[in-house]
Amino acid sequence: MSVEYKITLVTSVTRTSFMGKRESLTAKRNRIQEILLRLERAYPDAKVGLDFTTPLELLIATILSAQCTDERVNTVTPDLFRKYKLAHDYYSVPREELEHDIHSTGFYRNKARNIQLCCEQLVERHNGNVPMTIEELTALAGVGRKTANCVLSNCFNIPGITVDTHVTRLSNLLGLVHETDPVKIEFALMNLLDKQHWNTFNHAMITHGRRTCVARRPRCGSCPVLDLCPSVILP
Ligand code: SF4
Repeated sequence: MSVEYKITLVTSVTRTSFMGKRESLTAKRNRIQEILLRLERAYPDAKVGLDFTTPLELLIATILSAQCTDERVNTVTPDLFRKYKLAHDYYSVPREELEHDIHSTGFYRNKARNIQLCCEQLVERHNGNVPMTIEELTALAGVGRKTANCVLSNCFNIPGITVDTHVTRLSNLLGLVHETDPVKIEFALMNLLDKQHWNTFNHAMITHGRRTCVARRPRCGSCPVLDLCPSVILP
């Protein structure tokens, strides 16, 4: 992505208002910092929702989590990871066998095809290891920026903002962005937060989306960032 494109994305997404008043970039940066601080205090146990022990396991689990809950993926992966330990194992079985093993995560045909191709590429290009750059990861079949950032931040502690449905919804509700495109949101948030906070911001926002600012009915009355949110609804 070119620098010019990045700058256009960032300025178009972050130039907004808060509570009816124009909010400067500095004010918004201060607000997101305070939001993060309070969410970290509210959810000290926040962490990635997928179970894994190796980068390959998280890569596979994240591919499976598309259009599926982490809880559902976590019911499938214990048996899956016992059976398939190395990248090579995933493409040495017939496609139908892998489809059967991941069936309950939905979209299993696409996911099985992507997993087999991705694992073949891992062996061919990276000696079976999961690479540590976003460029190499997103060049793999079925791996977008969300999956790549999730693996980089949770396995290698490399800063990245994973824009999933929670981060998209909450960033808009909190007036941090006015945008639905995940890549634009990612770059806008990176522009608002210092790099060292990107990983904790992910976990805090996703946990807030699961426990308090739930999609169907946000629990604004018990929200730790109520006074910092332009979308608050109180009875
Ligand atoms: S005040 Fe309500 S809408 Fe805003 S972040 Fe909190 S729970 Fe979500």
